[in-house]
Order: sequence, then C-alpha cells, then structure tokens
Amino acid sequence: MENFESIEKMRFELLKWYACHGRHSIPWKLKPDGSVPKKSEKLPVYPILVAEVMLQQTQLNVVLPYWENWMKTFPTVFDLASALDHEILLAWQGLGYYSRAHRIHKTSKVLRNVLGDSDHLNPESWPNDKESWIALPGIGRTTAASIISSAFNIPEALLDGNVKRILSRLIGSQESLSKDLKRLWKLSDVLLDPDYPRDFNQALMDLGAKICTSKNPKCFCCPWQKYCFAYHEGNPSDFPIKGSRKVLPYSVIGIGLVFNDLGEVLIDQRTNGQSMAGMWEFPGGKQEEGEAVESTVIRELSEELGIKVKVAKKLVEFDHSYSHQKLHFVVYICQLISGVPQPLASVQTKWVPPSELINYPFPAANQKMISAIKDYLVSNQNP
Ligand code: SF4
Repeated sequence: MENFESIEKMRFELLKWYACHGRHSIPWKLKPDGSVPKKSEKLPVYPILVAEVMLQQTQLNVVLPYWENWMKTFPTVFDLASALDHEILLAWQGLGYYSRAHRIHKTSKVLRNVLGDSDHLNPESWPNDKESWIALPGIGRTTAASIISSAFNIPEALLDGNVKRILSRLIGSQESLSKDLKRLWKLSDVLLDPDYPRDFNQALMDLGAKICTSKNPKCFCCPWQKYCFAYHEGNPSDFPIKGSRKVLPYSVIGIGLVFNDLGEVLIDQRTNGQSMAGMWEFPGGKQEEGEAVESTVIRELSEELGIKVKVAKKLVEFDHSYSHQKLHFVVYICQLISGVPQPLASVQTKWVPPSELINYPFPAANQKMISAIKDYLVSNQNP
C-alpha cells in the first residue's frame, strides 16, 4: 500500500474517476462567478466554513438548502458575528446538533477580530494553517483540513466518515474505526495528492458518497478496486468492523399543550446548561418509574412552570431518536386550572399564537407537535 508506485497510480486513478463522476456543482467549491477554480486560485473562505460545519453531522443533500438560506441570511462572517442567538437558531432549525450553531457563531466573533479591517472577501486575509483553524470553537482536524484544502488548495489530509469507511475497506482493517484512527489518519496523509489536494480530498468524499457506500458498495465501477483488500476478500460490507453497539436509553416524555383564553399556546426556552440551548419547546418532562404519563405532565408543569393543569385529551404520540437516546413523546392538550407560568427551569416562558410559532426555533421533535396543533385547530374550527 505504501509502495510509492501504487500510491501514484491510486492518486491518478481516483482523480481520473473524479474528473468524470465527481460532484462538480457544489456551490462553495466554485468561484463566485460559478466557474471551477484553477489549481492556483483560492476560494472565498466563509461559505466553505459554513458548509463544512453543517456537513459535520449531516449529508450534503440535506445541507444544501440550509447553506443557501444561511448565506442569504448571513452573507458575510461579519453579519454572522453580529447576529442574535435567536436568529442563528432559527436559521439552523431542523439541521440538528445545535451546538454546531452556537460554535460557528462564537467562531465568527473570533474571526471578526482576526480579520479586522482587512478585505474579508479576499481569501488571503484569512488564516490558512491547520493550527489556527483547530483553535477555533467547533473546528476539528477534518473540518480544518477540508477548509484549507478547499479554499487554498493546501495539502492537508482529512478523515470524515466516508473516508474512514473507504480506507478501512482498502486495508481490511480488523479494528473498529475508533481503535484504528491513528493508522487511518496516516493512510489518508500518505495517499493525499500534494499537487491536487483540493480535488483529491473532494474525490475521496465523493467516492464514499457515490461508490464505496456503507451498504451495497459499487465495487464494479470503483477506481480503487484492484488495490482493495475487502474487494479481493469478497466482503466489503463487513468493513468497517463494528465496535460493540451501545443500547440507547429509552424514555417516555409527557408534554402539556396549554392554551390561554386568547388561543395562545405556552412555550418555554431551554437554558444554556441544556442541550439545544436557547431553543424553544412545549413544556413537559420525563416519566418517572410507576407514573402514569398524564401525572408526569401535571407534575412537570407544576415543577417547571408553577402552574396547575388538568390533562384533557391526548393529541399525538410518537418516537424520536437522537444519537444518544430514544424518546417516546406523548402530547396532551391541557387546561390551565391555576397559576401564572414562571420560568422555574427555563430562560423564559411565552404565550404565542399558533400561527407565530414559526418565528421561534424548535427542536425537530417539537415540529411534529406543531403540525399536530395545526391539524387540531383546523379540525376544531371545522367539526
Ligand atoms: S473496491 Fe469496493 S470496497 Fe473497495 S474501495 Fe472500492 S467500492 Fe470500496
């Protein structure tokens, strides 16, 4: 594998495949006039930064519309640095892993200072070394490498999920990805084409997305077929070796939808210490052992908002999975018996007309509740 002749051939064959089959219309990989950059040309850095942070946990086809909207909402790093948390979360809403939104906001404020009065549209004004990027909030080694190689065509190896999978199949790694990271980083480094790092890194990611997919890899049209251990063994799908899978904790969450006399619904805002900090949600909480879900709702709204409610009607229930846990939401319409909502476990509470919920950033699970509220209100108007 580390034989120099093979590596040269592998680079050549991958780049040849990329020239014909790569994804060449990714907007942040093009010049502002829409043309493909030459080897010596640099690209605007801010659009690449936004895209790479969005791509950390999310696939390209999902990211594209969010990136386009983000670039309209915050066209420059200075716009982003001056934006309110609320605006950031609203633009990020639906992408998940919301800590990324907070981190890119913090990063933009650092970069605003770094850039100062220099021309922020000129890539030369931006940092172009890995260490400077890794020092920024939310930027790891792969994100830094992707930014540097894309914007400046500087050789910096990366190791995202796609690349890990390809390389582990290529060498037939007998370790789980997390245990073999050092070797995979070294391999990515050795393979990287120092003359065409921008294209090579993109080609690797495209190979992973289009050919060396996690299920049913299309080895018959892979430019690296003849070098691939897993292909020759006839078992590419067996790689990467899976580590022991953790069973995700499962909880039932009781939610109470409380309406006032004006038809407004009660929402509260998550605190900084919580995941999805700053986002809004409908009040509720985790069912305790031996507790009926209706009682959970009554208890949670009393503890978190200081109000007494009566559970009137179940509106909807559904499962929602996160990377670290599975939740089953049971959502009830509630009647306010007494008390004035206070933010005892949140930043603030608000009564909001259902038609204005769109102006508040909510986690994905709450979006299903918003749809259910709309259906409920329509059916109540047209019995
Ligand atoms: S030959 Fe198959 S398993 Fe090997 S790198 Fe290519 S697509 Fe992946």
